[in-house]
Amino acid sequence: MTTIIDGNEIADSIQTDVRASVETLTDAGVRPGLATVLMSEDGASETYVSMKQRACEELGIEGSHHEISPDASADALFDRIDELNADPSVHGILVQMPVPDHVEKRAVLERIDPVKDVDGFHPENVGRLVAGNARYKPCTPHGVQKILAAEGIETSGKDAVVVGRSDIVGKPMANLLIQYGEGGNATATVCHSRTEDLAEKTRQADLLVAAAGVPEMIDGDMIKEGATVVDVGINRVDADNEKGYELVGDVEFESAKERAGAITPVPGGVGPLTIAMLMYNTVEAASLQSDVPIDL
Ligand code: NDP
Repeated sequence: MTTIIDGNEIADSIQTDVRASVETLTDAGVRPGLATVLMSEDGASETYVSMKQRACEELGIEGSHHEISPDASADALFDRIDELNADPSVHGILVQMPVPDHVEKRAVLERIDPVKDVDGFHPENVGRLVAGNARYKPCTPHGVQKILAAEGIETSGKDAVVVGRSDIVGKPMANLLIQYGEGGNATATVCHSRTEDLAEKTRQADLLVAAAGVPEMIDGDMIKEGATVVDVGINRVDADNEKGYELVGDVEFESAKERAGAITPVPGGVGPLTIAMLMYNTVEAASLQSDVPIDL
């Protein structure tokens, strides 16, 4: 029997813990605050930011949202980040990517105070993660670790294959999987668009994490019998419904579930965890900046 992993249920349980930490902090006079910054008119980015703000509201986190015109200068964005860095009521800052071409993404990530960088993308935080001393683990791969822990899926000694080498998913995922300790100790292989014979690699995987952004590129034939399959991909494809599209993952679910031991669906798999882990990092940031201990 294949286990279809319910990401919403796991995210709910994490949010229950986050809510308790918000209460601990608020009772101590520290209301956790998350500022989101959007410099784009892209519909998907607007949706992601509003989902993050809604999660703040639901958990008692003080959300504030800042929009900068995509035509404004890079300095307009940097000035806003500086203000948020200096604001003690803001514990976490998230600049929604992508930013316009005239703004250098790397400079944006470096501008955010690393202690408020709840995405974990500042080079200092990337370095800490790689060194095994993470301050904030990037939300999506951290969410994948939470899924594996909730399902009792052992990673130690297993062959893990990550498809995708982005800075936000693939690379930190592989890094977490090879760290010492719980959720790590795996042997990780990272595949990308130049990988030769991808199927030969994925068929070795006890744990397969798909994060390529290519609709349904991994089918049942590419999966080892009994493997755990975590599908990070979220892809819009045309569909004959009211919206005109539907969301599919990087894994072809129907054939994959015939081979996998456990599999995450899209939607309802990894997606809810990403937001839950952002809230988790925000309360961690508030605790770190206020010295009020929490039990997460
Ligand atoms: P990127 O586009 O930044 O990276 C995609 C990676 O996949 C690249 O490393 C690329 O290789 C690799 N790749 C692309 N095509 C292939 C292929 N045919 N074979 C092997 N590797 C391939 O994407 P992200 O990491 O930002 O996101 C990946 C997916 O995850 C997207 O669908 C995104 O929407 C989704 N996502 C979901 C989240 C969630 O909460 N569930 C959060 C974040 C992302 P190369 O480097 O060589 O170009």
